[in-house]
Amino acid sequence: MILSLLNPVRVGPALFAAFLIFCVQCSAQVLPEFEYRDVTVIVKQADGKPVASASIYGFSPDLNLLWPRIDKYPGSDVLWHQSSLGKTGVDGSFKAKLPAGKWGFFAGSRLPDGAVLAVWSEFAPISPGKVILLAPAARKQWALSSFEHEALAARQMFFRASGFPAFVPIPGPAASELIRAQLSKGRFELWASGEAKDKQPAFVLSWGTLSDQTPDGPIAVPTKPSVVESSSGTATLSWFHLGDHGVEGTMSLASRQKAWFSPGQFILSYQRSIAAGYTADFVGQLYRLDQTQHLTLTFDGPLATGVDQHFLEPDQKGRIKLNARLYFVDRNGHVMKNLLTPAGKPAPLAAAVWVDGKRVAARPHKRGDVGQTSFYTDIGTNQPTTRPVWELAAVVGVFPQIRFLDSPDRRTTVSSATFKVELPKVLESRAEDFLSQMEYLARYMNTVAGRPRRTTPTLLRVEAGKGGASATHSGKYIRFGAGMWYFEQPTLRHSVAHELGHNYGFYHGGLHETIVELSRAGSGPQIGQQDVKWLFFDRMNGMRQNEKVGYEGSYPNIGLYLYCYSQKGEAFTRYLIANEYAVQKKLKAAGYSDAEITTALCTIAMKQDIGAICRAYGLAADPAKVAAAVRMAPAIK
Ligand SMILES: [Zn+2]
Repeated sequence: MILSLLNPVRVGPALFAAFLIFCVQCSAQVLPEFEYRDVTVIVKQADGKPVASASIYGFSPDLNLLWPRIDKYPGSDVLWHQSSLGKTGVDGSFKAKLPAGKWGFFAGSRLPDGAVLAVWSEFAPISPGKVILLAPAARKQWALSSFEHEALAARQMFFRASGFPAFVPIPGPAASELIRAQLSKGRFELWASGEAKDKQPAFVLSWGTLSDQTPDGPIAVPTKPSVVESSSGTATLSWFHLGDHGVEGTMSLASRQKAWFSPGQFILSYQRSIAAGYTADFVGQLYRLDQTQHLTLTFDGPLATGVDQHFLEPDQKGRIKLNARLYFVDRNGHVMKNLLTPAGKPAPLAAAVWVDGKRVAARPHKRGDVGQTSFYTDIGTNQPTTRPVWELAAVVGVFPQIRFLDSPDRRTTVSSATFKVELPKVLESRAEDFLSQMEYLARYMNTVAGRPRRTTPTLLRVEAGKGGASATHSGKYIRFGAGMWYFEQPTLRHSVAHELGHNYGFYHGGLHETIVELSRAGSGPQIGQQDVKWLFFDRMNGMRQNEKVGYEGSYPNIGLYLYCYSQKGEAFTRYLIANEYAVQKKLKAAGYSDAEITTALCTIAMKQDIGAICRAYGLAADPAKVAAAVRMAPAIK
């Protein structure tokens, strides 16, 4: 496009020659190990026909990078989302532009004849123009059966080949309980889910690791499942298995109906009817179905109420703003997220507040993450003498006018081993779940950082009307907006892990964010921050210069640090955790620039001169000064 615009006749031969030289120079600067290469993947079924619309993705375990590239997640703070999957074209092809390195591809599909296709490649270096064929090497016939050897009809199956980070969902065979599969050679994991049928429970079950060598015939679930039962009421239950990206779905569960779950940790949320055709979504909570054999949930009954309210400091005119979050909590302890009209639209809710005997109308907060029950009002210049009482207008046929009382005896403190939060009593169950998830995150962060937090317990301060999170760098407390209760996996929120990182003595920058990402990844591969990683490779290919994306804008050098981590793993972080801040202080005092200091630190931690990589990334550091800086820093052990 640019070349055709630069017609030599129009722009003049001298300028055109200069442009060509410039281009030769900039392409010459791309380091070969980062150069983008075009590859084509072709998915075929056993008879050689191309498979159109197969779900597919690529993964480089060398770079912790995914294709299709994710430049922006649908909603922040997820590690994996089904929309990240690609689709093959009508000719079965899937094109990719990838940095050099080892890549593997994994694809799955239901074939027109009802068979299930799951095919993958080895992780191998890619050369420019390479064509990778994904075709089955084995045909199998399996009948999925329960732990007790009863036949199961799967509505959805989930495959993941060994070494890949995410499962690909494939619809199960609609009528037949027999599964005809076309597979690549090697090992893979299999989950399947299905609805309740006659007396048979619904199920979300793992068949563990299978391979093309697994004999034909019935294959039974290897472990005894836990049972989730509705004691009364009907719900659409949404579930996902923690740690296994892509193993998620929904099922309907009527009163007294049961579902089998393979032992594991699941987030369970649901939608159920309230009254008069209205339904509501309830926020998911984490259930340890590896420790609980029988979980009973109730999908009807009254909702309890509670409130958090928070006065803001008076503005310049002395006026005081009052924020409130009104809670509805069901008998399972789950918080109501959305109340929906019979048409499925968010029900309009109106609130007011009584301040010292005077009724003041309130307005809903309009930010995206705050839901329907977050309100604010201006109460004038006088501090009230009593706690204001919030009031929600009646929704005809659903609930009458409700008053939300706030007093010390309606509040409580919930503690876990290293966290503590004070909150309305009605949120006790949600808080216990929340803190248990915080403990998981902290446990991973202890391992990654190689040390415990500086201050425990960490106090969580929840403030109505605010978003995001902040913390003191001493680690004494983390302040959250009350919207945090509405996130099923709060610890996947970047802000949560980021604030916790401060309590380990990490400060804004590549190292802090690397610790955050390794902790969010838990036991899985580090696949977060894909947008920042692609920014790194774009820069290495001379495609973007000073542009910043995602958290890279606020916390510099994340892309560089995550690349270095992908190359050297813990060996890279170990040196930096022990030395980065002391070296930074010493070199800053000696007059070195940030770019020189970062280049020197990464060079030592990587045990190789990465000056050229840092320069291509955008760090303008003089090689002689970097060499001198390296000599001033402690050597790597
Ligand atoms: Zn911070």
